[in-house]
Amino acid sequence: MLQNLSKVVAQDKNFLNIINGRSVPALSQETITVLCPSDGSAFATIPQSKAADVDLAVRAAREAFESGPWSRTPAFERGRLLTRLSRLIEQHADELGALESRDTGKPVRQGKADVVAAMRYYEFYGGACDKIHGDTIPFLDGYTALTLREPHGVVAGIIPWNYPMQIMARVVGAALAMGNTLVVKPAEDASLSTIRIGELAVEAGFPDGVLNVVTGYGRDAGAALSSHPGIDYVTFTGSPATGTFIQQAAAANNRGVTMELGGKSPQIVFADADVEKALPVLVNAIIQNGGQTCSAGSRILVERAIYDDVATALAERFDRLVAGPHDADLDLGPMINPAQKRRVENYVALAAEAGIEVIGRGSIDVGAPATGFYVAPVLFGAVDRAAVIAQEEIFGPVLSLFPFDSEQDAIQLANSTEYGLVAGVWTRDGARQHRVAKRVRAGQVYVNAYGAGGGIELPFGGFKKSGHGREKGFEALYDMSATKTIVFRHD
Ligand code: NAP
Ligand code: MG
Repeated sequence: MLQNLSKVVAQDKNFLNIINGRSVPALSQETITVLCPSDGSAFATIPQSKAADVDLAVRAAREAFESGPWSRTPAFERGRLLTRLSRLIEQHADELGALESRDTGKPVRQGKADVVAAMRYYEFYGGACDKIHGDTIPFLDGYTALTLREPHGVVAGIIPWNYPMQIMARVVGAALAMGNTLVVKPAEDASLSTIRIGELAVEAGFPDGVLNVVTGYGRDAGAALSSHPGIDYVTFTGSPATGTFIQQAAAANNRGVTMELGGKSPQIVFADADVEKALPVLVNAIIQNGGQTCSAGSRILVERAIYDDVATALAERFDRLVAGPHDADLDLGPMINPAQKRRVENYVALAAEAGIEVIGRGSIDVGAPATGFYVAPVLFGAVDRAAVIAQEEIFGPVLSLFPFDSEQDAIQLANSTEYGLVAGVWTRDGARQHRVAKRVRAGQVYVNAYGAGGGIELPFGGFKKSGHGREKGFEALYDMSATKTIVFRHD
């Protein structure tokens, strides 16, 4: 694989950082080789940035925030720029979708769906820019008090590899809408679409330094960014362990953070549910993106009266699932990298050792290259509530079923992990829909549906270990700004 590198890279592309409106290599000239998870082949490089590169980007963002044209750009003009970026993404949809699929291994239809979502984020926040405003507050006689929503300043966006284009868009769209500037650090396993959209932002006419992209390893570039004293606010999506590290780094500078740290999201299926309607949604919620989704529905809680029927129907569907290369567009693609493949396989082995029964298992397509990072989907039946796979986020195509006995039992089981990101409730009973939706601890609850975190307009974020702060919708605009109160005395 590596012996072909020079040839492959020559055919493909060496991607560059974007700092102060220009495409530049790392100061050290070092690069990281980009692999396609479908066959492990090298097809591009990205800069291996270090603290000095991050520092340049933060300085450019600071300059743009404080004294560049951006600081005087009115809200409606920021909105026009975001809308222009959305249009450019639309014009480059095929290229961006193909790039995202090749870089992450996700099936091409998912790559296309991610482009559409990214477009919609920039469009939504482009339209929202000039619709966020403060209040006037009744106050003392002889005074007028009002509030303004002000940007934090320079925002650090640390982006994971699972939905890079979408997660970049929700962070960047909201931050730019409120007038911040940014330095974005994508995951080294999936940086290409972030760089490409950074290039399109320059083309759209965002002033130099407003949106900077610096690639590199988390331990170098990511750590340098989250601890940089020139950063005013940090937003992160990824694992709880890295989230803790980033919060500690930001705490050293007393800066605010938004944390989106994944989940162990339940879907509760009551005996009166429309099971036929639920089944494809239950499967998709764990299979989409190979289960590498923060809001994956990784636990299915089924009322005991229908448990066997639902387990059998899900097992039949799991047995038919096929993993394969991104361009074969099968049910799921490979895992992002060999470490993630091993991690998922280890969880499956651990569960098998604990005696948990595999009741459904998909396959890996016979044509899938042996050098790709594939995992066959696995369905575990009647999982012990205290088992490791019942509690920990696996981030792979592994689904656990649990029988429950009553509404109260279901709620208790749904809330029995450290996470609280998304939940699904399947029942025809209207009163129960409301009761359960209110008592489940999750940032989003779907009733007779499951959004897998989708919905540009819908506020999204976690309780408990799933994180804090809210992204998406108008709520993100509040996270990406702070209230300033101004009081006038005129007696
Ligand atoms: P991760 O460490 O949380 O990575 C997420 C982002 O943080 C990447 O951009 C990463 O950069 C960066 N990063 C890593 N260490 C950092 C540090 N010390 N300071 C600042 N930034 C840092 O996730 P991972 O190791 O790739 O995946 C491990 C597990 O995390 C997965 O199995 C899954 O359970 C979970 N995860 C959750 C989500 C989610 O959407 N909630 C997304 C991804 C992963 P590099 O990748 O370049 O090192
Ligand atoms: Mg890659």
